[in-house]
Amino acid sequence: MNPLEHQLHYPFGATQPEPGQALEVAPGVLWVRLPLPFALDHVNVWLVRDEFAGRQGWTLIDCGIARDEVKAQWEQVFQTALQGLPVLRVVVTHMHPDHVGLAHWLCERWQAPLYMSMADYALARLWSQPGAKGSAAGGEQAVAHYARHGLTDADSQAQIRQRATYYSGLVPAVPDTFHRLLHGYVLSIGGRDWRLIVGHGHAPEHISLYDPQAKLLVSGDMVLPRISTNVSVFDMEPDANPLQLYLDSLSNYDGLPADTLVLPSHGRPFVGLHERIAQQRSHHDERLADVIQACGARPCSASDIVPVLFKRKLDLHQLTFAMGEALAHLHALYFQGKLGRSTGEDGIVRFSAA
Ligand SMILES: [Zn+2]
Repeated sequence: MNPLEHQLHYPFGATQPEPGQALEVAPGVLWVRLPLPFALDHVNVWLVRDEFAGRQGWTLIDCGIARDEVKAQWEQVFQTALQGLPVLRVVVTHMHPDHVGLAHWLCERWQAPLYMSMADYALARLWSQPGAKGSAAGGEQAVAHYARHGLTDADSQAQIRQRATYYSGLVPAVPDTFHRLLHGYVLSIGGRDWRLIVGHGHAPEHISLYDPQAKLLVSGDMVLPRISTNVSVFDMEPDANPLQLYLDSLSNYDGLPADTLVLPSHGRPFVGLHERIAQQRSHHDERLADVIQACGARPCSASDIVPVLFKRKLDLHQLTFAMGEALAHLHALYFQGKLGRSTGEDGIVRFSAA
């Protein structure tokens, strides 16, 4: 446990669901952990007891990536945890592969409708097309984007070029129709009203769900107990300001009770929502101060900022996220007027004290 985690309370301690099993975290709400083949090795998904259109069953929140071993774990969950009842609906918090990857398979397997925000549904459908440009992790446009910000070594570029099908490989399809989730609206699941809370900066239109009666927050990736939420500038929107959007979005959680049980997409359920949000704010304040200091010493590209923000060694997957994150910090300061930027004769964008 890192020191900041001591400010949080984990009501289930070290207990977590075994692969293919579900663990009840509140009446009618089950926790399932699905595997991920990355440094971040799991994603949490949630099953909520539902009654919909006159049928008893379950609503799933989030799906896992499209891999056979994930489907196999779902099948185990269906056999052991659903009490013989069907899946009635599939809710997806946002468009990232670990959340939407298997939505098409789950919706088809159960003839269940999909619920998602408009922006994330549209972008997931776009990026799941083979050959979609600007799908964040790879391809020629991503190579040019990262090169403009100082990642110019041939080896990294070759790897980024090869990852053009990264998204569509993990999200091969998205259902043809969906039901729209919107900020401030209520989604009734099994007679409980879940308030929908939008978050920007991590994904275009991320949706968290909050049940005020049970004081339960399905936070998705917007509030995580251990790791900080990724905020990246990707090639599709090169002038994006996602860190500012993310920090501004966190105020949408301000009114929630202090004893809310947070169900995050990664890590363990915890109590301490406001402590964790305060930690995230001060974490980014410190990072922004480090970035200003570095750019005050000499003009810095995003690539120059990566080792300022990340002290550990990064694999390529982590490096592209780190580049996106470094650029997010530079852009936040640039759009606040605290840094200027210019493009050098080498074609690389550098930021310096304004
Ligand atoms: Zn995410």
